Amino acid sequence: MAIVLDKDRGIESELEERIDLECPYCGVYAHMSPQSVPDAAVLLRDKPKHVGLVYQCDACHAPVFLRFTVREYDNNRVELQRNFVELERPKERFAFSYLPKHTEIMFREALTCYSNNSFNAFASMCRRAAKSSFDALGEGGKLRAFEEVLVAQEIAGIDDETFAPIKTVLFDSGEQEELPLLNHAQAGILLEVLKDLFYQCFVRPGKLTRAIKVRQFFVSEEKSNLQSA
Ligand SMILES: [Zn+2]
Repeated sequence: MAIVLDKDRGIESELEERIDLECPYCGVYAHMSPQSVPDAAVLLRDKPKHVGLVYQCDACHAPVFLRFTVREYDNNRVELQRNFVELERPKERFAFSYLPKHTEIMFREALTCYSNNSFNAFASMCRRAAKSSFDALGEGGKLRAFEEVLVAQEIAGIDDETFAPIKTVLFDSGEQEELPLLNHAQAGILLEVLKDLFYQCFVRPGKLTRAIKVRQFFVSEEKSNLQSA
């Protein structure tokens, strides 16, 4: 049984229709409780194809907007399809401060596209972010990035056919118009692969260098304290 809006009884849903989501506000994977539900009588009169419901995140109590497609209008009840669209998606996070400035700008916009379900805009911005990172890496940067991406493919066990469009987006030097169309699943792989690439090329060396500098600072402090004692 799906979610039903009844003219007299309001929202009815079975236990297995519980909605659990990653909350776009607090980031917790939490249960969502119905907070604002449209009036079934009005829906039965106007018969819209889509219906919006507001849920409340059990963890932080923020309102979360979901859009459902109507499956059926009955005499007194409106039955909704199980799947829904999240109008606000959780924001993707990354340690942006380690990226070269230009790459950071491109990658932030790429992640905004992804969070808005604009997967082909996301792919275009990934191409630009990747290109900018190759330039920042200097001579041989693109080749090094390519090798890192192949390692990621192997670690994640992704077959060549699935991986081909990801490689095309990141490394082909053709026109933007020739980029392959990506669906949600492919965009998800591209996202994780590019995050991993940037982690290996910028975040990891940045963190390591910083950590070693801090260690050396304390060692030299100790030395000067010993000398002055
Ligand atoms: Zn929340």
